[in-house]
Amino acid sequence: MTAPLLTSLAAPDGDRPDALSVGGRALSREELLGAAGAVAARIAGAPVVAVRATPTPETVVAVVGGLLAGVPVVPVPPDSGPAERDHILRDSGATLLLTGEDVQAPIETVPVDPADRAAWTKPEPDPESTAFILYTSGTTGAPKGALISRRAVAADLDGLAAAWAWTAEDTLVHGLPLFHVHGLVLGVLGPLRVGSRLVHTGKPTPAAYAAAGGSLYFGVPTVWNRIARDPDSARALASARLLVSGSAPLPAPVFRDLERLTGQRPIERYGMTETLITISTRADGERRPGYVGTPLSGISTRIATEEGAEIGELQLTGPTLFDGYLNRPEATAGSYTEDGWFRTGDIAAIDPDGFHRIVGRASTDMIKSGGYRIGAGEVENALLDHPAVREAAVVGAPHEDLGQEIVAYVVADGIGEQELIDFVASQLSVHKRPRKVRFLEALPRNAMGKPQKKLLPPA
Ligand code: ATP
Ligand code: MG
Repeated sequence: MTAPLLTSLAAPDGDRPDALSVGGRALSREELLGAAGAVAARIAGAPVVAVRATPTPETVVAVVGGLLAGVPVVPVPPDSGPAERDHILRDSGATLLLTGEDVQAPIETVPVDPADRAAWTKPEPDPESTAFILYTSGTTGAPKGALISRRAVAADLDGLAAAWAWTAEDTLVHGLPLFHVHGLVLGVLGPLRVGSRLVHTGKPTPAAYAAAGGSLYFGVPTVWNRIARDPDSARALASARLLVSGSAPLPAPVFRDLERLTGQRPIERYGMTETLITISTRADGERRPGYVGTPLSGISTRIATEEGAEIGELQLTGPTLFDGYLNRPEATAGSYTEDGWFRTGDIAAIDPDGFHRIVGRASTDMIKSGGYRIGAGEVENALLDHPAVREAAVVGAPHEDLGQEIVAYVVADGIGEQELIDFVASQLSVHKRPRKVRFLEALPRNAMGKPQKKLLPPA
């Protein structure tokens, strides 16, 4: 018999009425199982179901219903405009949209009610079958649908549980969107596999994190940055066991502020929709600003370096990898090397002690200027080290003489262009200083708080 993916639902030991609290509304595991059973009975046999992924118990019930029934689930961002939503619905082949609210949609909608109850007794689906079609964040292009198997989800959650000593004794707190790997796979299925409590705060505000009293906290760097700028809320996290950051690089200044305010060095982990989380620092290991740690159990990594270079493309193999992009055989083929390793498209380095450092994306974060190769992240960190700078994004803009010139976009108060250029030149090699600084009200970011460099105004 196949072991259940959501282990703690099959044997709800120590079930409590508030095992899952989402946006202030609580569910026990037994209630979740009953409500999800009703969803599973309703959708069994459908090819793919979409879930309008609001941060609510309805979303958790709908997703678990799909997993019980063995129907692939495609989460849809609730704030996506009609064009993005219709692209996801059409591309994924979803025939039903599960939703807690009355919404207009081009396919049949199925209402989800956490108060429903039905027993679901069908056998556990094949581990190799598709659990999710997860759309990538669309940071570099149109979102692509990644086919994620139940086996990949199980392997990833077990790897993370081992790395973070994550157990049923924990209370996980986060307020992340429920339509990407971070909030949904780690943030919801993690507690349902490991057996920990979950408090989803609805929104990821510093005050909500501080009030939740958890042992394990997940956040994206923008969330940690807000917490670091709210010292009272940050200090309230001193009693937590682990603070975990991922989905984008955690700026070193934010790492240091968190340590100063909470007494804790945050855990940083790295992953992608296509690979799930593959690299992390560990509960029992060193945590170093700017480093994402070592591969999870079962994951192998290598760096494809050009001759003489220390950095290069990070490539991976292991049980957490996806089964390709839906409807995009060429993109799927292009994401593997000839010898079958997955190409992340991220530039990285591995220290002699095995610690991984992510330099940035090959497509946007590697700047070639005047014969030098410069990682945008290093310059961004140097800018963020200036107390007047709140946000920074660095790009290479086409330049006749240099090939590319370094342009910095910053959100800052009371500082001028030349002063910032000189500041970076005093911190890093002179060739890494920006040639231009543009001041913005805010950086363009997506739902995960990732800066969208393609949306920056021309230099
Ligand atoms: P798209 O592929 O649609 O352009 P995306 O790559 O942002 O969007 P995701 O799969 O959500 O979509 O994000 C994966 C990427 O996020 C990684 O390839 C990497 O560039 C970045 N990333 C994730 N975690 C970290 C981290 N800890 N440090 C640096 N970068 C990270
Ligand atoms: Mg990507």
